[in-house]
Amino acid sequence: MERTQTIREAIREELLRGAATSRELSERVSIREKDVAGHLEHLERSMRARGERLVIEPASCIACGYAFVRRGRLTRPGSCPECGSTRIDPPAFRIEAA
Ligand SMILES: [Zn+2]
Repeated sequence: MERTQTIREAIREELLRGAATSRELSERVSIREKDVAGHLEHLERSMRARGERLVIEPASCIACGYAFVRRGRLTRPGSCPECGSTRIDPPAFRIEAA
């Protein structure tokens, strides 16, 4: 539990410093990339209480520019519904004062 809190605090500090993707966060905080979304979800709830907001720059398709704005937001999509490309620019996250 304590370790979880430490991880989330470290993620928060990274995001206060500037935008980062799941992969960047996983490298900087030393967790698995697939665990980042879960931490962000919890973090988002505690941030609201602090008057902060998680800003998500949506994933987009490198091939055609399609933006995944309505999608599950926190994870990288597998392929583009418009052109089928799997070259996807992942979502990036940062924290803003609400
Ligand atoms: Zn596309």
